[in-house]
Amino acid sequence: MKRITLLGATGSIGLQTLDVIRNHPEQFNLYALAFGSNFSKAIPLIKEFQPKVVVVKDIETKEKLSLEFSSTSILVGNTGMVEISVDPNTDMLVNAVMGSVGLEATLAAIKAKKKIAIANKETLVTAGHLVMEAAAKYQVQLLPVDSEHSAIFQCLNGEKHQEINKLIITASGGSFRDKTRDQLEGVTLEDALKHPNWSMGAKITIDSATMMNKGLEVIEAHWLFNIPYKQIEVIQHTESVIHSMIEFADSSVMAQLGTPDMRVPIQYALSYPSRLDFPTAKKLNLVDIGKLHFKEMDFVRFPCLQMAFDAGEEGGTMPTVLNAANEEAVSLFLQGKISFLMIETLIYRAMENHLSIKDPDLETIIQVDQQTRKLISSYL
Ligand code: NDP
Ligand code: MG
Repeated sequence: MKRITLLGATGSIGLQTLDVIRNHPEQFNLYALAFGSNFSKAIPLIKEFQPKVVVVKDIETKEKLSLEFSSTSILVGNTGMVEISVDPNTDMLVNAVMGSVGLEATLAAIKAKKKIAIANKETLVTAGHLVMEAAAKYQVQLLPVDSEHSAIFQCLNGEKHQEINKLIITASGGSFRDKTRDQLEGVTLEDALKHPNWSMGAKITIDSATMMNKGLEVIEAHWLFNIPYKQIEVIQHTESVIHSMIEFADSSVMAQLGTPDMRVPIQYALSYPSRLDFPTAKKLNLVDIGKLHFKEMDFVRFPCLQMAFDAGEEGGTMPTVLNAANEEAVSLFLQGKISFLMIETLIYRAMENHLSIKDPDLETIIQVDQQTRKLISSYL
């Protein structure tokens, strides 16, 4: 029985993680959960799973929640998330919170030698060197939840690192994949939120439309698999059936395929190294699908992908700036305060303004993250 702490329980990945736990009560038990402030979504989850500890973003949410659950321990904020991630009563952290707010809990869980399933890619983008350094030091393996990284992780089973030629990460293209740059002028929030293949949280859906999601995934892959950026390729793949591939030294290519359903990579991260059954999963039927489509990435059409490669290559605090600027810009777009194309403009300006600091420690990263967020707000 694995006792699980789940950060981001009310989100898209959080709810699907709970579904995996629900389907395997003999394997998994939810010890603690964290969410932001989505009180009404959290109540039925707390009633059903009865976690011993709940963490919320702010005091107001804690006060409201205490009225409903008088015998549950309720903690607040980042310190609360750190506490439930290192608790001796938990074996595994599933980090499915949105944004770099997940960083400190990840680092703390590594130091406490917990098993970690990581969906929270922003953590690896903003401070990949710190996370991987700690993981090596404490001999903790990070189990990827992101479908592309789960695919690569699965293709690497039993393979030698030095025999990898390149990683080939697939990208659906997001909501606006068929639009030209000119057609992106004036697209609405509602249009941007309609992803063709996946149903996900709002921020990552916008990241998919700008292609920043793929950029963040390139940096995530660089850290998780210790592969130079020059050996990471992105290709557009319309159907999201091939979740990613690896080309090896002998030119063999390994791929992992499946119907798009995040519960598959989530379950694999939770059950690794075993595989559990998933009777209700929609099985892949290639005959029904008939054709798979691929296209070269257009870096002019998707400048966010280029910016992510540039930030990754530059290293130091540049990926922190890329990530924080993106989080802020997407949040402004979601609030209807800026246009879709303004997202990339703001990120570009933040990066242009920043002189990267080499090998930053946690304090520097937190400082640069906050400065970047302020800078983006000041552009308004
Ligand atoms: P959602 O926006 O659906 O959910 C985010 C979760 O984080 C919610 O539970 C939210 O709580 C919580 N949260 C947000 N801010 C805070 C905070 N300050 N403190 C505590 N909790 C907070 O996101 P997704 O589930 O889509 O994505 C989560 C992560 O997984 C992201 O890093 C994303 O890139 C990654 N990912 C997601 C995929 C998907 O299919 N959705 C696929 C691959 C990766 P509340 O509801 O109360 O706001
Ligand atoms: Mg992904």
